[in-house]
Amino acid sequence: MLSEARKQELITFCQEAVRCKSLSGQEGLMASLLAETMKRSGFDEVKTDRYGNVVGKIAFGPGETLLLEGHMDHVDVSDPSAWKHDPYGAEIQDDRIYGRGTSDMKGNLCAMLLAAAFVKQDGSKKNGTILVAGCVHEECFEGVASEEIGEIWKPDCVVIGEASNLTVKRGQRGRAELTVETLGKPAHSSNPKMGINAVKKMAVLLNALERDFVPESHPILGDGILEVTDIISSPYPGASVVPERCRATFDRRLLVGETRQDVLGTVEALCHSLSDSDPEFKAHVSLAIGRETCYTGEEIAAERFAPGWLFEAEHPFIQKVLSGLRSIGQEPELSHYYFCTNGSYYAGKAGIPTVGYGGSLETLAHITDEYIEIDQLVKACEGYMGIIGAL
Ligand SMILES: [Zn+2]
Repeated sequence: MLSEARKQELITFCQEAVRCKSLSGQEGLMASLLAETMKRSGFDEVKTDRYGNVVGKIAFGPGETLLLEGHMDHVDVSDPSAWKHDPYGAEIQDDRIYGRGTSDMKGNLCAMLLAAAFVKQDGSKKNGTILVAGCVHEECFEGVASEEIGEIWKPDCVVIGEASNLTVKRGQRGRAELTVETLGKPAHSSNPKMGINAVKKMAVLLNALERDFVPESHPILGDGILEVTDIISSPYPGASVVPERCRATFDRRLLVGETRQDVLGTVEALCHSLSDSDPEFKAHVSLAIGRETCYTGEEIAAERFAPGWLFEAEHPFIQKVLSGLRSIGQEPELSHYYFCTNGSYYAGKAGIPTVGYGGSLETLAHITDEYIEIDQLVKACEGYMGIIGAL
């Protein structure tokens, strides 16, 4: 159990973090707070990489390297007037800390950092190395900045600190962003027969996808999803012109083992069958490319493809995490995330044993008057100490 002094230290640290507004690409202030706190709390080494990820290391002795990872960025506040609490005020009311990023996920990131520091202060751990990382650009770019952390620090196992209500998450669906463009032929819309209307071709494709795309299903992770999320014609706005291009974006949720080729191939095959029956049907399918600038000035770019992952309940790392949590009196259940996390890189791409564990509810992420219960914050910190101890 955390002492009163340690609880207060954690609450104050979490409040300071919430007051450092840190939208994706603007995490500099939050990164400085993490780095300074790591140095002050006795971390052996603290480094910031080219994207601005902050990583602190404590070497206890020989053995495995465990990475505790959380993202520093948060989504924006779309309507501040709808909030009863200042989104960046970190006000405490009814044993809750209110503010953007409290649940997603500064609370758990602060809990991870101090858990590692507290274990070092206690002086009983003699093996293994603990890394604590604050990652940039997670909110719209899962797993991309994490790749830099993974390649530089090479962890043997990873705990992602996204809210899990203190359950142990052993997997998640992945996510891909798919772009399909239909190609037409421009003409004056007073004489449409002279042209080929790309919007009408897109309508045919959307109907065909709705009818023919049967998502695979997984007993634990659920269904693979293909959902259209936006559509735009070109030229736009189009006055008196038959549009020559139409582009639609799709959110595709992936099950374990679905590759980028699977994702592209399914839609390409459907497009081929449509052009077999209509020679004027032409479409191009690709994965969307994300491009963002980091607060360090570095550009980060990648295809929007984050694989799904799932570990067996009996996996030795999962068993170790469970026993660590039981050792401090928690009775964690196994579950999985409904959203996409940086685990897509560590587990899905790099194959590193990974779990998710953190305080608070997944459903409190991104909401108006986001908060974290202080009890959950404290228990998460105790849980991370238990996991570190079990390594
Ligand atoms: Zn998050």
